[in-house]
This record gives sequence, C-alpha cells and structure tokens, in this order.
Amino acid sequence: MLITAAHVLAGADRHVIPDGAVLVREGVIACVGPREEVERQARPDEPRLAHPTGTVLPGLIDAHVHLCFDAGPGPVATLQDQDDEALFADMTSRAGQLLGVGVTTVRDLGDRGGLALRLAEAIGAGRAAGPRIVSATTPVTPPGGHCWFLGGEASGPDEVRALVQRNADAGAKVIKVMETGGRLTKGGAESWETQFSAEELAALVDAAHGAGLPVAAHAHGTDGIAAAVEAGVDTIEHCSWMTSDGIEVRADVIARIVEKNIHVCPTISPHWPMLPKFFGAERAKAMFDAVRQMADAGVRLIAGTDAGVQRAGFDGLPASLTFYEHLGLPKERILAMATTEAARALGVGSETGQLTPGFSADLLVVEGNPLTDLGALQSVKTVVAAGRHYAAGAAE
Ligand SMILES: [Zn+2]
Repeated sequence: MLITAAHVLAGADRHVIPDGAVLVREGVIACVGPREEVERQARPDEPRLAHPTGTVLPGLIDAHVHLCFDAGPGPVATLQDQDDEALFADMTSRAGQLLGVGVTTVRDLGDRGGLALRLAEAIGAGRAAGPRIVSATTPVTPPGGHCWFLGGEASGPDEVRALVQRNADAGAKVIKVMETGGRLTKGGAESWETQFSAEELAALVDAAHGAGLPVAAHAHGTDGIAAAVEAGVDTIEHCSWMTSDGIEVRADVIARIVEKNIHVCPTISPHWPMLPKFFGAERAKAMFDAVRQMADAGVRLIAGTDAGVQRAGFDGLPASLTFYEHLGLPKERILAMATTEAARALGVGSETGQLTPGFSADLLVVEGNPLTDLGALQSVKTVVAAGRHYAAGAAE
C-alpha cells in the first residue's frame, strides 16, 4: 500500500517531509520519504491512497483507557450488570471507536476477567478491528479499595506479590496498582488517601520488575504520588496532587520524577473545558497549573484520557490534546506525548509510535497539518493499524 500526502511526519523526531509518501508491506512500514523516491519502489499494482492536502503521521496512543467501562453516567453499575460475553461485545465496539479516531495503540489499565487480553488476541488475529492493546489485566487494590470489583484485591506483601505473578502469568504487559483511592468507587478510600503501605508497594514493584513488567500507579493524592515515586514505579496515572483540603504540588517530588525518568499520564478528558464549571474556577486553575508546572519542569508527560469513566468517550483523545495547547505546550511536544513518548512509556517504543522503516504500520492521515493546527487531528481521513487499512470514522 502506497500512501501519499502533502506532509509526512517521519522518523522518531516527526520531521516534515513535504510531498511525501509511506510504503506499507505486510503490516510493516517499508519506506518513508519524498513521494517521487518512494513511488519508484512501489509495484504498479500496489494499492494507492492519495491525500494531496493531508498529513500522514504515526497512529496515536491513548496511554490510559478502560475498555470495560461504558463512559456513561454509571460505568461501574453498568459493568456489574453485564456478563463477560456481553461485556466483551461492548469492548470490541469500543476498540473500533478508538481506531476510528486514529488511535492505533492503547494501554488498558484495568479490566475484568482478562477480557482485554482476549480482545487483544482477536485483534492480532484479524478477527476484530481495534488498536494494539497493552493490558494491565486486573488492577491491584486492597480489599474494598478503588476498583475492587475488577477482581484484584490483595492485602500484605505476600498477597500483593501473588497477584502480580497471577497477572504476569495471564499475559499482562504492565502492572496497575491503585496507590490511592478514586471517585469511581463508592465507599472506598478518598482520592487523596493512600491505600498501600510502603512495604506492600515495594513488594509490588519488586515482583513486577522481577517479571519484566513496568508498574503504572494510579495516584491522585500528593502523599501517594511521593510514595510511588520512591517505590520506583514507571508511570504515574492522574498525578493530581490532591490533599484532604485542596491541591498541593511538591516541587521536590517533581524533581525526583524527572530524575527517575518516570512518565506521567495526567488523564485528560475531551471535556476538559467543563472542569471550571465542575470543580469551580479556583480549583480548576490549580489543577491546570499543576500539569503546567510538571511540563515546565521537564516531566515526560504522555497522553491519556481514562476513556470509559464518566464523560470520557473512546473517541476523545484528539480533542483532549487541546488541553495541552491551552497550557501553552508546543504542538510538536503534544504530538510526541501521543506517539513516541507514549510508546516508550508503554514498552512498545521499538515497534510503534513513529513512521520509520521496520516499525509496525500504525498511522493515520488527517486533513491539514497538525503542526500548524492541532484541530487537524479531528479530521481523520484514513487509519492504518498493523498494516490493515480502515476508512475514517468506522472500522471496516
Ligand atoms: Zn483509570
């Protein structure tokens, strides 16, 4: 398949090739370069997709989704009412929605019954349309803790280690730990409260790293964030710096995050402009400032939406990225957050996230140029995932 466009964002640095082309063979990027050069390598019968006013860029990565949740007003109740077969059917359709907006890789940070792994296998075998899924399987939480209903309760270092091993044996590619509470879970710890002891968290990180898996820590609370950083987790999710009475960003902890090369996924909903209405102007400003402070300090931020929780649909990643533009981040850095940087954080940086020969053919074509107008990401023309071509807006 030969794809030509006005601009191609090529290589690890997404440098612009004007009037460029990408040649895809057997699921892999075979060649990227100026159109005339790449065309010479294409066979006469090669399928051709011409987008003379568009841009080809690497497929987007949503580093934080929950395929098991429906993004409705009560995602937990809906989940609990569904059996595995009905849930699997819904998860399959959500995977198609992600693909439709150009998301070709997701990290699923918590589902039930290994269904995301089953879906990943179906997608890999071509039985379902969807992005590559890096699955955490069941998140690790204390008894009755945040998202206990997903089946990952563990108490004490031994139980924590056993659960990490169970997930690793099942095929998890990352271990998710609920280091603090969360709003989604009624009757559990508050968002700012730490759920695990330092000893339990150390055991979890040790067991995960021993199994060759990174750790993603859900951490809203400032204390939990600090504890996760010291325990040596690999990514911090949400990272909202909450205390019992507000928001307290700690510059010393941010410095440690940078020093330890920890990625932070702030989980931004496409409806972020509603936050001042939802939390009040002052609180929303403090939330925005916290992310800006991390960005300014050089924290390696990655894009994620928490798709599946209330108001976070599976088509929201492109719109969510405008949040970072609002904070003043350069468009180039925002694209990196949703491609190369996210790929690295997910442990798939040598197979996806860039248009480079030998990488998986995960790409999208948008109308216009996202380097001059980020809104271009919302006019998807073509999506290619693992070399399979999908029409815009709908998985074939
Ligand atoms: Zn989440």
